[in-house]
Amino acid sequence: MTENNKVYDVIGIGVGPFNLSLAALLDRVPEIDGLFLEQSSHFEWHPGMLIEGTDLQVPFLADLVTLADPTSPYSFLNYLHEQGRLYKFYFFNRFDIPRREYNDYAAWVASQLDTCRFGKRVVDVDFVKNDNPVYEITIHDTETQGTERFQARHIVLGTGTIPMIPMETDGCSSEDVFHSSQYRFYEKSAKETNSVTVVGSGQSAAEVFYDLLLDQKHYDYELTWYTRSAGFLQLESAKLGQEVFSPDYVAYFNELSFDSRKEALSNLGQLRKGIDPETLRPIYDLLYHRSVDQNTRQVTIQPLTEVTSIEREQTEGAYKLNCNQWQKDEAFTDSSEIVILATGYKPHLPDWFQKFSESIEWEDKKRYKVTEDYRLLFNDNRKNQFFTLTNLEHSHGAGATNLGLSVYRNQKIINSIADKEIFPISKSTVFQQFGPENHNK
Ligand SMILES: Cc1cc2nc3c(=O)[nH]c(=O)nc-3n(C[C@H](O)[C@H](O)[C@H](O)COP(=O)(O)OP(=O)(O)OC[C@H]3O[C@@H](n4cnc5c(N)ncnc54)[C@H](O)[C@@H]3O)c2cc1C
Repeated sequence: MTENNKVYDVIGIGVGPFNLSLAALLDRVPEIDGLFLEQSSHFEWHPGMLIEGTDLQVPFLADLVTLADPTSPYSFLNYLHEQGRLYKFYFFNRFDIPRREYNDYAAWVASQLDTCRFGKRVVDVDFVKNDNPVYEITIHDTETQGTERFQARHIVLGTGTIPMIPMETDGCSSEDVFHSSQYRFYEKSAKETNSVTVVGSGQSAAEVFYDLLLDQKHYDYELTWYTRSAGFLQLESAKLGQEVFSPDYVAYFNELSFDSRKEALSNLGQLRKGIDPETLRPIYDLLYHRSVDQNTRQVTIQPLTEVTSIEREQTEGAYKLNCNQWQKDEAFTDSSEIVILATGYKPHLPDWFQKFSESIEWEDKKRYKVTEDYRLLFNDNRKNQFFTLTNLEHSHGAGATNLGLSVYRNQKIINSIADKEIFPISKSTVFQQFGPENHNK
């Protein structure tokens, strides 16, 4: 049965920060009736990576509402106020807040929105064509184990990303060889072994490596860090460079041809991949301080090295890493009791999405076409929109997963659903221009 035969204006699938921001903004838009369905039992933001001491990589102003609606009760500043922590934050005097605090803030917002329902895994979506066409969303309730159906005129896919493991790990225990997204769950047992290896050189790899480096003196494991990349390079953080994470750049990027967009992404590698200098610096400093004492446990750091597969060793408790130093084309093996794969994430398109693939337009085999207001393009020109906040890098650029652009994306979606400008879109948000517009006037 569908819930009271009610038809929502919009249903969001998944409640990560992107759809949660949409829910929080919609809370102040009475004419749009929304519902948001999340499979987890409560709000949690990458719980396996909420490492003590790590910070959000965008300023706190990139909260769930402020950039569109600074007077919203769901702002980060109001969260601090309600928690009685506003003065402490004032003296903290920083824009980059702890990652754990962002999670707590978002959970605080979610707990106040009765439009967000948890423990509801979307297992199917159908488009029902009748006089008033709707999407019918089937959920599995993880608490009651029952099935429910909901209907909406429009849907918003916000299913985020899932871990990517690019090498073979057949036969390895998932408690010993695991993705960085699981780090906090296995961290303690990992630290109690003799050897730990981290693979990758993005932000997650550096955060995990630093955490292990800090605790090495208490537990005494050997620590190794391999990456396929040519070096342990830092993210470009200059302010002018950061302006590509702006509404202006997103609008410019979306208008380019598919080939130009692909090229633009590869040219902007330094803004997308690498490690925050604030994470790299303490790693080096700690290594340096440790180097005074000659008896410290071994640390190996090696770039240019691809770990091609991981298999169980004959000796109990260890794993064999098959590696290749690709610049010298020199294969070698290493051994480690724990391997942490900080090898990135890929967009998460649920299995049921497959049924829409025949009726939408694609850029290539993997990447669907997305309009500038985040709609998929259907062959039948339907009025019922399927918006996506997932898998947007090819259409909206380097900031596709950037929290600072989440509010802007949702403003566009809300205006599109309402068919009027509920939230005015900020223009000329940055100092630079990306095309010769002003010269052609
Ligand atoms: C460790 C980590 C740290 C990051 N730090 C930053 C940062 O500091 N700054 C920044 O700008 N960006 C950061 N990012 C990038 C980005 O902000 C995050 O990936 C962000 O979580 C994206 O939000 P989302 O809502 O798209 O997806 P997610 O947070 O992945 O949420 C998706 C949700 O959908 C749910 N779901 C999936 N399938 C279903 C289904 N079938 N039914 C119901 N629910 C479903 C999932 O359970 C999940 O809760 C980080 C990413 C990672 C992985």
